[in-house]
Amino acid sequence: MNASELDGFRKALLEEKERLNSALENLQTENPGVDDEEGSELSAVEEAHLAEAGSLTLDREIDYTLEEATHESLKEIEVALERIESGDFGLCTSCGAEIASERLEALPWASLCIECKRREERG
Ligand SMILES: [Zn+2]
Repeated sequence: MNASELDGFRKALLEEKERLNSALENLQTENPGVDDEEGSELSAVEEAHLAEAGSLTLDREIDYTLEEATHESLKEIEVALERIESGDFGLCTSCGAEIASERLEALPWASLCIECKRREERG
């Protein structure tokens, strides 16, 4: 991978990082309406479980999950940026093969090549 390609991925990662950080800020400052159950996609069983859990509103629970997922994505982006610095970017962390550029363009933070990813998903 040449320097300008690498630079393009660095830029994409930094942009995504910024986007996620502001999304996170919105999640944290947003005050979800109480008892607003519109948009709920939880099953009756899950709703009952949440009600049992007490003070958490459905909206807050959904925000929390979203927040967790956003934190996870940010971590992946941080790791990818570190890999750009260390010169390991674009190499599969499992088998060391080069990750296909189409895959990196879609997911610049991908750390596994498609074969290893498929293997991981099969378990
Ligand atoms: Zn691999």
